[in-house]
Amino acid sequence: MFRFILYTLLLIIVISIVKSVIGVVMKSFGDFAGRPDAPPRAKGGKSSARIGGDLHRDPVCGTFVAESTAFQRRLGAQTFYYCSDACREKHALVAK
Ligand SMILES: [Zn+2]
Repeated sequence: MFRFILYTLLLIIVISIVKSVIGVVMKSFGDFAGRPDAPPRAKGGKSSARIGGDLHRDPVCGTFVAESTAFQRRLGAQTFYYCSDACREKHALVAK
């Protein structure tokens, strides 16, 4: 009877370890996928979101967008980058 309890406890411990390992693996996979609209993280002072050019902040909703986005607008010497056409339209009403 005592042996059964011991095995059950061992099983619970093994399952929790496996679960945490899977969690870590899944998390690192998520980081690797790197959504383009995700804000750049300062991890060790090195930006990992360098794919697709520099990131620019959408002046309307604050989302970080890549320089390669189709939604951009030049205003004088400045270029604005937007996450969507809706944000570009909105900003066009405010800043002319
Ligand atoms: Zn936006």
